[in-house]
Amino acid sequence: MTTTRQSEFHNLNSDLASFRFLITDMDGVLWRSKEPMPGLVDFFKFLREQSIKFMCATNNSSTAPQKIADRLRSFGTDVTPAEIVTSSSATADYLTTILPAGSKVYVIGLDGLRSAVIERGFAISEDDAIAVVVGIDWNLTYNQIKQAARLIRGGAKFIGTNADATFPAAEGIIPGAGSILAAIETASGVKPIVIGKPEAVLYAMAMQRMQAQTDQTVVLGDRLETDILGAVRLNLKSILVLSGVTTREQLLASDYQPDWVFEDITDLKNHWGRSILDHPDGMANQNKSA
Ligand SMILES: [Mg+2]
Repeated sequence: MTTTRQSEFHNLNSDLASFRFLITDMDGVLWRSKEPMPGLVDFFKFLREQSIKFMCATNNSSTAPQKIADRLRSFGTDVTPAEIVTSSSATADYLTTILPAGSKVYVIGLDGLRSAVIERGFAISEDDAIAVVVGIDWNLTYNQIKQAARLIRGGAKFIGTNADATFPAAEGIIPGAGSILAAIETASGVKPIVIGKPEAVLYAMAMQRMQAQTDQTVVLGDRLETDILGAVRLNLKSILVLSGVTTREQLLASDYQPDWVFEDITDLKNHWGRSILDHPDGMANQNKSA
C-alpha cells in the first residue's frame, strides 16, 4: 500500500517518531460498518510496543466507554475503558469543573450520557436544575425541548455533547445531537457550550488524562470538519486516514489540512515504524524544539 504523505503540508523537522501521545477517532479509523479495520490488532500492538500512550476519542454520546472497550476487545485488542473518552464522559468531567458537587442537572440524552452524569455524583432532575446537558436522544419529545428552554431562560447553563448536525445510519442520514441543540437554542435564545470535536474540550480532556504535552501529541481521524479542525484549533499535529468518510477531492478542497495523510492505520503504522527506526531517540522532535 502506498503512502500519500503530502509534502507541501509536511514539516520536515517534525516526523512521526517524535510523538509519544495519540488521540484517535474510532469510526472510519479503527472500524467501519461494525467491522474491524484490517490491521487493527497490529496497530495497537505497535502502540504498546513503542510505549505510545493513546486515547480513543469519539463524539458519540450514546455509548459508554465500557461498551466501546468491550467492542474493541472483541476485535482482539487490549484497549481498556480508561483509554476511551466519549463526548458524554468528557461532558460529565467538564461539569465537575463548573458545577458544585451533587448539583441537579437536566439531561436530554441516552444511557451513555445519563450514566456518565450520575457516576460523577450529579442528580438528574427536571426541576431546579442548574445545568441542561444535551446529547443524542432517539426518544426526544416537545416537552423535553420546552423544559430545557425554560431552565436555560431561567439561567441554567446549556451544554451540548457535540454539534454533529447529522450522522449516517442504516436507514440513511439521520439528525444528530446538533439538530437537537439547534431546536433548544432557537427556543431559549442561548448558544450551547459544546464539548465534542471540533470544539476544544474533548481533546483537552484526552490530553489531560494522558498528561500529554502539545508538541508530543498527534491526532488521528477520518473527518476533516471534526477530527482535523479540532486538532488545528488546539495547535496539535494531525493525521488523516482515507479509510472513512473523506475523499481525496474533499481533502484537496479543504481550507485546513492534516499534517499527514495515509490510506489507513496499517499504512500509518508502517510509516510510523520506519520513522522510529530512522529517529530511534525521537531526534526529529529534539531538532524541532532546538
Ligand atoms: Mg470517524
